[in-house]
Amino acid sequence: MDKTIAVIRGDGIGPEIVKETVGVLDAVAEKFGHRFTYKEAPMGGNAIDAFGVPLPDASLETCLSSDSVLLGAVGGPRWDSQPPANRPEKGLLKLRAAMGLYTNVRPARMFSELASACPLRADIANRGIDFVVVRELIGGLYFGEHTTVEENGEKKARDICEYSETEIRRVARVAFEMARKRRKRVTSVDKSNVLDTSRLWRAVVTEVAGEYPDVELLHMYVDNASMQMVKDPSQFDVIVTENLFGDILSDEASQITGSIGMIPSSSMGDGTRGLYEPIHGSAPDIAGQNKANPIGTILAAAMMLRYSFNMAAEAAAIENAVDQTLKAGFRCGDIMEQGCTLLGCTEMGAEICGRI
Ligand code: NAD
Repeated sequence: MDKTIAVIRGDGIGPEIVKETVGVLDAVAEKFGHRFTYKEAPMGGNAIDAFGVPLPDASLETCLSSDSVLLGAVGGPRWDSQPPANRPEKGLLKLRAAMGLYTNVRPARMFSELASACPLRADIANRGIDFVVVRELIGGLYFGEHTTVEENGEKKARDICEYSETEIRRVARVAFEMARKRRKRVTSVDKSNVLDTSRLWRAVVTEVAGEYPDVELLHMYVDNASMQMVKDPSQFDVIVTENLFGDILSDEASQITGSIGMIPSSSMGDGTRGLYEPIHGSAPDIAGQNKANPIGTILAAAMMLRYSFNMAAEAAAIENAVDQTLKAGFRCGDIMEQGCTLLGCTEMGAEICGRI
């Protein structure tokens, strides 16, 4: 297969982790007989320096005309004094909107070798943690009307939460499609005992489930879901939920698995094109020192292969290579343990490449 990938290296550790990830993608291309063409799309602080704006039109065009987008991270103290409309993260927000990315997917997977970084009790962690949170990204409370009024000398604030059937249906389909490529179980999280938006959510998700008879659907209230996630995370495969609940649950999910440097994420809209990135930022404190852990970005590339390019075996090859590298005792500084071998970003990339 021939695929074009827009590459946003970004700021801070972004260029270092993306370089290693591109190396891993090249190893996959060689092994499986594909051709990946990379198109550079400057975004973030470096784009402000070079072009005066965080997302130049040419970069946006490159992203929109590519099969998918790989992003390192953007931002850093150097650009903190920029006016709010011209900050590095504005580029990312503009890109998400232009690509119509209404779904965010964050896997929570614990590597058995990193079990000691898991804050849960060993008997719970040992049952395994391997699920994804599918979060609606551009609707609900965060995008409703926000008002603060003064009545009878007292301030009163209001935030409107709205969801349409279309907004719910499209994210539900992403979750069911994802479950089909995993263990075929969707847990839909809502608060339908209280909220109308949740009642609509539950009705629409149930209706969509009819299109996926091979996937099991369960419903769970959000308060229970937050407890179940720490009590027995092994019960989850794909969690689908609205924006606010997803924001909170996906952070809880990423915490129970260990290091911030290990976790990938994808944002998707209609069609197969997505934006793939690690969940962490540009880590300016370790930038340029060959100390960054590239695994979150490398696993984001595996998500790209699986979800945008339908290359399940290729994605698994990357994930297995990461597993094997950890099993061999290699670690970056953020996940270093006694008895293991400390590697820099470049060396970690090379070890993973060598195991593809
Ligand atoms: P951060 O995630 O960059 O760093 C937090 C801590 O985690 C730091 O100590 C850092 O060294 C460490 N860390 C992060 N990623 C690591 C990795 N791969 N390997 C080893 N250690 C790692 O968060 P921050 O310091 O709050 O933000 C720094 C900059 O990144 C800010 O400008 C922020 O706006 C930006 N940011 C960008 C994104 C994005 O591009 N999507 C996301 C979050 C933050």
